[in-house]
Amino acid sequence: MPRAAKKAAKPTAKASASTEFKNFEPYKPKRGEKYMNEKQRDHFKIILSKWKAELMQEVDRTVSHMKDEAANFPDPADRATQEEEFSLELRTRDRERKLIKKIDSTMERIEQDDYGYCDACGVEIGIQRLEARPTASMCIDCKTLAEIKEKQELG
Ligand SMILES: [Zn+2]
Repeated sequence: MPRAAKKAAKPTAKASASTEFKNFEPYKPKRGEKYMNEKQRDHFKIILSKWKAELMQEVDRTVSHMKDEAANFPDPADRATQEEEFSLELRTRDRERKLIKKIDSTMERIEQDDYGYCDACGVEIGIQRLEARPTASMCIDCKTLAEIKEKQELG
């Protein structure tokens, strides 16, 4: 018997906003405040650790969600759909794990007082850009250039 209308695809565990983290107050430096002074470093340490905690929670949630559901579909067609969903989720989680690693190494750099400067040219990356991308290790110019080069190499 043909399967009746495919079960409405239930919303997959949301692809999540994990490449961004917005749950913080933007830092307002005082006039003449030194770039990456202790207060600023603390600010970013807090952002990074909250972000990491959030990501780890999501990873955990997926794992237990998959354990709960794994055995529930005797119908092979349902299983196939479910496996697709799982593999999508796994890819998302894989990205998150990589991001967590990146966050860890970024926190390390803060500890070593090596945070907030462009790896390529050495300029200050800037608080606003770092708040948008706390793991950024290049200034916007170098990053843009690197992306152009990468595209050229690929294609
Ligand atoms: Zn640069």
